[in-house]
Amino acid sequence: MAEKIFDVVVIGGGPAGGQVARNLSKKGRKVLLVERFPSFLDNNFSSAGMTLEPLKEFNLPDKVIGAYWKNITIQCTKNSYFWKGNTNKGVVLDYGKLKQFLADDAKSFGGEILTGYKYISKKVNEKTVIVSLQKSKSKEIIEVECKLVVDATGPLRKVMYDDKEVQPTMNLGSGTEYLIEVAPEIYEKYKDQLVFFLGHKWAIKGYSWIFPMEQNILKVGAGKTHLKSLNQKNTDITTKKITEQIIKEYLKCESYKLLDKHGGIIRYSEGLKDKFYENKVVAVGDAVSAINPRGGEGIRYAMQSADLACVYIDEYLVNGKTNFNNYRKKWRRKKLFKWRLSEFSSQRMYSKYTDNQIENRVLFFYENFKIDVLIDSLFNFKYNQIFYRVFKLILLKVQFMFKKERF
Ligand SMILES: Cc1cc2nc3c(=O)[nH]c(=O)nc-3n(C[C@H](O)[C@H](O)[C@H](O)COP(=O)(O)OP(=O)(O)OC[C@H]3O[C@@H](n4cnc5c(N)ncnc54)[C@H](O)[C@@H]3O)c2cc1C
Repeated sequence: MAEKIFDVVVIGGGPAGGQVARNLSKKGRKVLLVERFPSFLDNNFSSAGMTLEPLKEFNLPDKVIGAYWKNITIQCTKNSYFWKGNTNKGVVLDYGKLKQFLADDAKSFGGEILTGYKYISKKVNEKTVIVSLQKSKSKEIIEVECKLVVDATGPLRKVMYDDKEVQPTMNLGSGTEYLIEVAPEIYEKYKDQLVFFLGHKWAIKGYSWIFPMEQNILKVGAGKTHLKSLNQKNTDITTKKITEQIIKEYLKCESYKLLDKHGGIIRYSEGLKDKFYENKVVAVGDAVSAINPRGGEGIRYAMQSADLACVYIDEYLVNGKTNFNNYRKKWRRKKLFKWRLSEFSSQRMYSKYTDNQIENRVLFFYENFKIDVLIDSLFNFKYNQIFYRVFKLILLKVQFMFKKERF
């Protein structure tokens, strides 16, 4: 490794970094994927719920799937709303296994993998970059040389911004999740559905969830934004406390086996103001705020940003063109408007609405839309049916008022 010059060193073995390593190795580029944890199965923090589309989009195998889901429940403070789906609508992935699969795939195409090493610093020369990596729990430092470095370190953006460098202002979010083994009768109730909690009883400036995994295993968690709340009291309660409250009072699970307790953060630049490229460093995934700011769904978009970045990385490797401004432009053109809508609706839902307003919005959805429209709105940024329905309702109201005036 010491004498070799890699085409690309990817720092961070999450979905974005794994997908970059996988794509470029397939193209025959010399790639090194570096992950700070000793195993890809460690740091298994993501709930990894999604629709079915990403499975095809990224050719993901069955072995990374924890469970399929068909139905959605939204539990508000007063009532519960259930949408039935007759077929599978999505999956909950095992995030650790996803990372492992992407790395294995990269390796099968000749990519090299280095786990248990964390990125420390970089020195950019005229033609190459020297990257310093430190072995976990030791002082040993190694150096690797490459033509380009990819920052796939997620919300921390460790490579694009050196330790003391000022980063753009970010919106913050954080989450806690328990992976628990429950009694079969409890699992039976939740095995086919995603349960989301909205409103002030079960969530705090965000939403909470129960997702199914393999037999008798559930993911239960809560995520909160760090927005100022105008209506919710007691906003300093922790996501850990809410998670435990859901297990005890909602699932009524007195005894369960805690298999894993994990958490993570979200750091998101409003208006997608991140640096996408600078001085031989390209950023992907959460490092360019690829995460959907309302739902915190980020795996699909991390992998999409990786696919797009790879087009320009490959161009750079073939003919030395630094066309990365187009990577940024294309990504923003595709996503900025949708992300703005998502920011707007999350700020209203999580920080402005009263508990009753939240309940009323969910009730409106429940009375007017089937599960596919709900999924389109929650996961796919497709709002045309909702806009059409709201427009029709306004029209009916105007017609009604007009008639009342005439008689
Ligand atoms: C609690 C929680 C629940 C979530 N639930 C969902 C969900 O249900 N569905 C969904 O789609 N998304 C979900 N997300 C978001 C999703 O997990 C992220 O958007 C996605 O993982 C981003 O991928 P990434 O590769 O950009 O970054 P990450 O997945 O964060 O990967 C970054 C990698 O870089 C490594 N790294 C960091 N620093 C260094 C360093 N110095 N040296 C070497 N390696 C380093 C990290 O160990 C990590 O493996 C959730 C997030 C959280 C926090």
